[in-house]
Amino acid sequence: MFKHKKIKTNSRVDFIDITKKANQIVKGQSINSGVLIINVPHTTAAVTINENADPSVREDIIKQLNKVIPFQDNYNHLEGNSAAHIKSSIIGSDQSILIKNGQLELGRWQGIFFCEFDGPRTRRINFQVIKE
Ligand code: ZN
Repeated sequence: MFKHKKIKTNSRVDFIDITKKANQIVKGQSINSGVLIINVPHTTAAVTINENADPSVREDIIKQLNKVIPFQDNYNHLEGNSAAHIKSSIIGSDQSILIKNGQLELGRWQGIFFCEFDGPRTRRINFQVIKE
């Protein structure tokens, strides 16, 4: 089953928790066991899994990414958003999450984040559920 959803990001760099969206997609299927693949079809955005209990974790990730990959650094790419392209490649555009007993097999503290690196924009997220 393939589905896509739109998401509106709020700032230049933004991590948005999409765990509920992903859970809804899995619950909408009568599936016991399988895999959910999440894909972000953008070159300046990404998807990652990390702690969603304490918001300071995502703040620290953003802070360090911005420090390691500064917005301006004599990049060659004329569009002026090379930092966003680099961050997108480092974090990656896909995640696979196991489905067990009809639920996403995430750890207690894990959440799924859509990562915006060149916002604010309206973006797209692709979801593919593969049954075992
Ligand atoms: Zn560009």
